[in-house]
Amino acid sequence: MPSIEIDLYSDTQTRPTPAMRDAMASAEVGDEQRGEDPTTNKLCEMAAELLGKEAAVFLPSGTMCNQIAILIHCRPGDDIIADKTAHIINSEGGGPAVFAGASTRPIDGVRGIFSAEQAEAAIRKRRRHAPRTRMIEIEQTANSGGGSIWPLETIQAVGAVAKAHDLVLHMDGARLLNAVVASGVSARDYAEPFDSLWLDLSKGLGCPVGAVLAGSADFVEQAWQWKQRMGGAMRQSGSIAAAGVYALENNVDRMAEDHENAQLFADRISNLPGVRIDPEKIETNMVFFDVSQTGMTAAEVHERLLERGVRIGENDRYRMRVVTHLDVTSDQVARAAEAVRDVVMEAAA
Ligand SMILES: *Cc1c(COP(=O)(O)O)cnc(C)c1O
Repeated sequence: MPSIEIDLYSDTQTRPTPAMRDAMASAEVGDEQRGEDPTTNKLCEMAAELLGKEAAVFLPSGTMCNQIAILIHCRPGDDIIADKTAHIINSEGGGPAVFAGASTRPIDGVRGIFSAEQAEAAIRKRRRHAPRTRMIEIEQTANSGGGSIWPLETIQAVGAVAKAHDLVLHMDGARLLNAVVASGVSARDYAEPFDSLWLDLSKGLGCPVGAVLAGSADFVEQAWQWKQRMGGAMRQSGSIAAAGVYALENNVDRMAEDHENAQLFADRISNLPGVRIDPEKIETNMVFFDVSQTGMTAAEVHERLLERGVRIGENDRYRMRVVTHLDVTSDQVARAAEAVRDVVMEAAA
């Protein structure tokens, strides 16, 4: 494989900075399973405080946060309402069906966002034949929706529907802090209507590993039991939790640069022949674009960019995804856009 100089495949492609590595190397540690790891405890307290919840638990990944939350909230035969693009539906190996025995009901939202009316219409009537609707799940930001931000009013309206029908509300907050930085709405305000939610540390925050799941003290106690059962309980986890503490203290506000860089990339490629940005509006750190009119598939564009040392995600046959993050500078993002231009122009010639 040619060497990748500029990696815009995902915001998971960051390496810990020297300062983050220092924080990890010098972290105070203890046995996490016994509640004796001070750094992990600190991370959980910080996350609970940030999200306005009673407690939080450190987990190896965002996927485990979603699956444990679903396990706690849902019984076999329960149904989960989520957008058709949701990570829990498309990218977790069928986890809701495998672990909780729950089905999912995909909603046809716009940019990964659905309305309170759509959520209400998807709630099943209580009858013997139907699964029991149990949960509404939203993704902030909506990844496959284009890194789009759920407006606070929409969240509150969906939350009111959940409450009126006695449903659980869960947020996949893999990129919640991108939404916070871009919108100026606080994490607490976004989190308020949710029974459970989580933050990914290994995305825009730049940590090598980890996620934090928050909710009521009782919810987190149950989450701890699942963490133990599934083998997610760790020992001297402070070594990695320290990266999370460092990131929450240092890497949040800077995500504004990632958002500017995504906009820069979109501006640079928007007028290329055959390239269509989808959706047109760039809200956070992602740019999806469609290459169907360039005469190439996404796989072909991907391949030709790799030859130029640039990696961009191919999401489906004609759709590509760029994700900016703290390991790419604006200069590199501009160079990546130039590489896309070269590839598209060469194909057009
Ligand atoms: C990455 C991602 C996840 C899963 O997080 P991991 O930490 O990679 O398991 C879940 N939801 C969304 C929206 C994501 O982008």
